[in-house]
Amino acid sequence: MKKIPLHTKIIIGLILGLLFGIASIQFGWDASFTTDYIKPFGTIFVNSLKMIAVPLVLASLIVGVANLGDISKLSRIGGKTIFIYLITTVIAITIGLVAVNVLQPGKKLPAETRDQLLALYTINAEKSSDIAEDLKTRSPLQPIVDIIPENFFAATTDNSAMLQVVFFAIIAGIALLQIPKEKGASVISFFDGLNDVIIKIVEYIMIFAPYGVFALIASLLVEIAGDNPDKAFELLYALLWYTLTVVIGLASMVLIIYPAIFKLFTKIKYRDFFIGMRPAQLLAFSTSSSSATLPVTMKQVEEELGVSEEVSSFVLPLGATINMDGTSLYQAVAAVFIAQALGLGLSIGAQLMIVLTATLASIGSAGVPGAGMVMLVIVLESIGIPTAGIALIVAPDRILDMCRTVVNVTGDATVTMVVASTEGELPDGLIRKTIVTAPA
Ligand code: ASP
Repeated sequence: MKKIPLHTKIIIGLILGLLFGIASIQFGWDASFTTDYIKPFGTIFVNSLKMIAVPLVLASLIVGVANLGDISKLSRIGGKTIFIYLITTVIAITIGLVAVNVLQPGKKLPAETRDQLLALYTINAEKSSDIAEDLKTRSPLQPIVDIIPENFFAATTDNSAMLQVVFFAIIAGIALLQIPKEKGASVISFFDGLNDVIIKIVEYIMIFAPYGVFALIASLLVEIAGDNPDKAFELLYALLWYTLTVVIGLASMVLIIYPAIFKLFTKIKYRDFFIGMRPAQLLAFSTSSSSATLPVTMKQVEEELGVSEEVSSFVLPLGATINMDGTSLYQAVAAVFIAQALGLGLSIGAQLMIVLTATLASIGSAGVPGAGMVMLVIVLESIGIPTAGIALIVAPDRILDMCRTVVNVTGDATVTMVVASTEGELPDGLIRKTIVTAPA
């Protein structure tokens, strides 16, 4: 019998999870069954991916930097990578701003629903306001201070401190380039071996992916519906315009901007890229975490799309931490939506401020579920919108998180393909490694 490809199995898991969730809500099955006996499999799956995120980032970046061979190559590839990451983020925010200004979803929200939402989610918003209070007393340079870990080992125990791990790994990689080769060799080969071990573990975890995805989607639906499904769906319906605006923005990135980037800077067909990326995108959608998806993104980009380990092991871990096109786009839409719903006007200056702060906020967002909404506080603060307004967008956030994470991961991989192409890899546009490396 023909083997079913992994992405098809994941899609089957996703659809069955959806059907199970809908049936469970529709027929009023006991939600505690899903929470007690199905959700744990989803948690096990996500945890096993998260388990390897820190060692993977550490090992692959150290090896990635050290393998570049010299500092000038590092600054060339590093400079190029960060520059393209920034440009794509700014494009994403601009698209978000255009979409929200044209579609004006905030003005379509009935005042009554707005007040209900504000009352219903004040607790969440209060949590965010606490963060906002903290932010007020912080130095403006605190985000830079936060990049440097006070204790490296402590940083490696916290998936949301990935930027600190990235910082250490890059410094360690640079140092490895500058010490005598014979001394560095054993360190590099240790991390190189660790890297391969982790990639192997990813293969094991992926066998479980379809079941994990089933459990994640089924339990998510049951949780969203909660005790009062009608009320929950009513709320989601009220926020339909806002949700659509974010989704239209995200879709423009995937269907217009990334293909255009491929056309301009590579010889690769976007369709081929998309096919190779499917498993990573499906995982991003089901886990809402670019950190958890990173091992699979790396595997796909290297094995299916034929990018060298040299490029992918440097560009991708960095991207999973600092490049979040989907998150930044969402933050721009959400900030303006809240302003519109509260009847606050935003000047051009305020909108430009959003470009700046959403860029910073997306860099600072960890690749974990919900991080983008927490960091939205920074954007709201910068333009003087009450952070309590976050209450307005809590309801559909998990669904939007799934969609924006897909864009985050696709954006990272797009930039990786551009860097690889401009470095002379994939010259003939053949991206399947099997084709590229087939014996002549
Ligand atoms: N969940 C997103 C990610 O991991 C971050 C966010 O926007 O919340 O990429």
